[in-house]
Amino acid sequence: MTTGFGLPVFHGVAIGPAVVYRKAQRILPVPSGDPAVEQAKFDAALETAREQLTALFEKAKKDIGEEHAAIVEVQLLMLDDLDYLDGVAMAIEGGAAAAIAALDTGEEFAQVFAAMDDEYMKARSADIRDMSHRLYDILCGAGGFQLPSEGSFLLVAEDLAPSETIQLPRERILAFLTRQGSSSSHTAILARTLNIPSLVQSDIPLEVAEDCKILAVDGFTGTWYADPDEETLAVLRKKQAEAAAARNALEAYRGKESITKGGRKILLAANIGSPEDAVDAIKADAEGVGLMRSEFLYLGRDSLPTEDELFEAYKKVAEIMGHRPVVIRTLDIGADKQVSYMGLEKEENPALGLRGLRICLTREEIFRPQLRAIYRASAYGHLNVMFPMVASVWELKAAKALCANVRAELEAEGVPTRDVPIGVMVETPAAAVLAHELAKEADFFSVGTNDLTQYTLAVDRQNAKLGEFYDPYHPALLALMAHIAKAANEAGIWAGICGELGADPKMQEKFIEMGYTELSMAAGRILETRKLVCESEL
Ligand code: PEP
Ligand code: MG
Repeated sequence: MTTGFGLPVFHGVAIGPAVVYRKAQRILPVPSGDPAVEQAKFDAALETAREQLTALFEKAKKDIGEEHAAIVEVQLLMLDDLDYLDGVAMAIEGGAAAAIAALDTGEEFAQVFAAMDDEYMKARSADIRDMSHRLYDILCGAGGFQLPSEGSFLLVAEDLAPSETIQLPRERILAFLTRQGSSSSHTAILARTLNIPSLVQSDIPLEVAEDCKILAVDGFTGTWYADPDEETLAVLRKKQAEAAAARNALEAYRGKESITKGGRKILLAANIGSPEDAVDAIKADAEGVGLMRSEFLYLGRDSLPTEDELFEAYKKVAEIMGHRPVVIRTLDIGADKQVSYMGLEKEENPALGLRGLRICLTREEIFRPQLRAIYRASAYGHLNVMFPMVASVWELKAAKALCANVRAELEAEGVPTRDVPIGVMVETPAAAVLAHELAKEADFFSVGTNDLTQYTLAVDRQNAKLGEFYDPYHPALLALMAHIAKAANEAGIWAGICGELGADPKMQEKFIEMGYTELSMAAGRILETRKLVCESEL
């Protein structure tokens, strides 16, 4: 048995086989200098790509249906495209290595498609790129990461980017263990959403995880065990059973009103990233969605989602949540959530850079489709919109003006819309200090404590080495939190908390006392928070 520690980000116990996630390493093979040899390498890669895509197509058909699996089928057909194959052959003949010929020819074709007028053909440029990158990866020996095709496992990684986590089969993951990451990183947030015990900053060597037969994680103590002995296993199994019993006991709070003994009604909502999460929110008895992180619709793909794609996602969430309120946060890309296709420049200091509402206000072609999609979907439920990273009143006014413009445009087109309350995500100290001014323009506030902590204390939330300095109980932060709630109450608008601190049982009563009336959190925390609210004397 080998054992070690990590920072626990969700409680519980998980026991099972470990799978180690390693990022693909691409090593460009030394070109042979002989076109015939390079062509033979390319032909072999073509066959491997065909096998991979066929397997992927079959899986996609099973998982998401034939219609959606067509995306993969298109790429399979492209492998036979004679123009592409001729282009590669010519590049190889001209002295290029097979990998470079596959990649560069794919890029040339992708650009030709991207410049076409037809929307369908335009969209195919991403498929060509995807296909040629696959060939490139095969030729560079980066077979890509292969998950076991069935069974549950504990996922161990150096670190996981949001774009990587969204591609994982979440229902089969028993726990996350990362060597890096922080308690407010997105892997930690996902672990809480999925309700699974997880450790970040763990000292588990990847080789140990790779070699062990059974890995166990105790999310209560932050301990991991590789090949635990019988005695340890028995203790862990007992803990696991006790945790399950505690979860069952919380079932008594399902369907109950979240109200304190003194009569304060608190709305307990869920944080979600996709329509799929909304289903989990309903299962967890959430009373609404307090934060939909819409950037998850932008991650793990090669191009911007279209207005229609966004509309479909928002409509689905609105319909799933029914009469319950849903707060959609507009795109909060930048900082730790990067996408390659937006053409954003690399920044020295991304957390203080072009992110959140700043991107939207400088790129209307990115902002307008989001707002149109939200207003179109408003007819199907109770949607609210919220802007991230606001620091000045003018930013809120500019965003509101575009909302009004979009709604008028849709009405002129005969598209039904409803009123969509407009809120500010208070996550910069400037917005917190200006809460009284912002409250005159906003319908609600929701405090993003993850960023508000980082910006108030000037402590990078992603930097594992700063752990003890990232203090969410810091008096400066709590003073700002009290100020925000007071400003909202005086202006007669509601204030909630959607950062991780809103789910902290040590703080929840204090926040209710400050005047917060909504707490939004990982769905798995709803019932235990309801218990706390119902037992509160406030
Ligand atoms: C926050 O900053 O507290 C928040 C909820 O948003 P995110 O974690 O997505 O930045
Ligand atoms: Mg934030």
